[in-house]
Amino acid sequence: NQQYILASRPPGMPDENHLVIKDAPRPKPEDGQVLLKTIYLSLDPYMRGRMNAGASYAKGVEIGDVMTGGTVSEVVESRYDGLKAGDVVLSHNGWQRYAVAPGDSVRKLDPAEAPVSTALGVMGMPGFTAYVGLLDLGLPKSGETVVVSAASGAVGQVVGQIAKLKGCRVVGVAGADDKCRHVVDTYGFDACINYKDDDFETQLDRACPDGIDIYFENVGGKVFDAVMKRVNDFARIPVCGRIAHYNQTSLPEGPDRLIPFMGKVLIKRMTIRGFIQSDHLERHPDFLKDMAAWIRDGKVQYQEDIVEGFESALLAFQGLLEGRNRGKMLVRVADD
Ligand code: NDP
Repeated sequence: NQQYILASRPPGMPDENHLVIKDAPRPKPEDGQVLLKTIYLSLDPYMRGRMNAGASYAKGVEIGDVMTGGTVSEVVESRYDGLKAGDVVLSHNGWQRYAVAPGDSVRKLDPAEAPVSTALGVMGMPGFTAYVGLLDLGLPKSGETVVVSAASGAVGQVVGQIAKLKGCRVVGVAGADDKCRHVVDTYGFDACINYKDDDFETQLDRACPDGIDIYFENVGGKVFDAVMKRVNDFARIPVCGRIAHYNQTSLPEGPDRLIPFMGKVLIKRMTIRGFIQSDHLERHPDFLKDMAAWIRDGKVQYQEDIVEGFESALLAFQGLLEGRNRGKMLVRVADD
């Protein structure tokens, strides 16, 4: 069994000194357990936070442990009544080829219903994040303007499409021209702006003539600053992620801006609310029902970026943190 072990804590971008591939014996299932072979490993930005020491909303990975992560896996051997060899399940086995899991901790997938990889993307955690963050925290109303950052990514692409379904004007922000074209042409966003362009703020003004009612925050940094200058009264800001800061080792130069920022929150009567998708699981059945229907009816499209081979995981993860992915980042560890 091959595993990526967290060997040390990365100060900035993780590399092969921090995540090391090791060989371990293949585990054996006990009563009530299944032996699983990883087909797809999901790569997600939250994994960067799990490499850090210190308190967060979830416990970090310990040094010497297998890196955590969602997987779509095949049952190789079952000692659990509800599953048999050959079944495909959604599990959380981490960055490794084989793992045992309690049979009642995994969810059986139906490959006839949807490609099994979607259980890690549009039909999985990132899709659910978009659904609950936009609908329950963003509270979109028809005619409002929604801006979403990391617009072409796993979460952003779904946020924008749901906002369109709710009758909003949707403006994406992304870090590459081809990403921007894709979200407009394929997902039907009204506009998408490359935040790396010199005239990014001018383009944002043009794309949001009526200001911004909802900002779905995925990145932080300069995109957040630019949006804050353009929010309308009673704007809602679901704070989903801040990927521009995940590898930062110190605060940026410049004066403390907290006091003017809080002034703005007051004057604009803004609602800024951080959320973690797993706190909203009571909405998961609604999400599965709605998203399955939207995909079936062609109302929601999705893009996956699948790299081949277990050994590609670290490079692909670095790419995710640097914006090289095109859609939901997955590693194909074994054939499905
Ligand atoms: P994506 O598929 O969107 O991939 C990450 C993207 O972030 C990159 O492609 C890149 O796109 C963008 N990015 C990277 N660095 C920067 C930067 N310095 N400035 C601006 N953008 C940057 O990832 P996900 O859709 O999986 O995740 C999106 C966000 O949602 C993340 O912040 C993640 O942590 C958060 N999240 C939060 C959850 C929650 O429960 N709160 C659950 C799931 C995800 P580009 O080329 O456009 O810059």
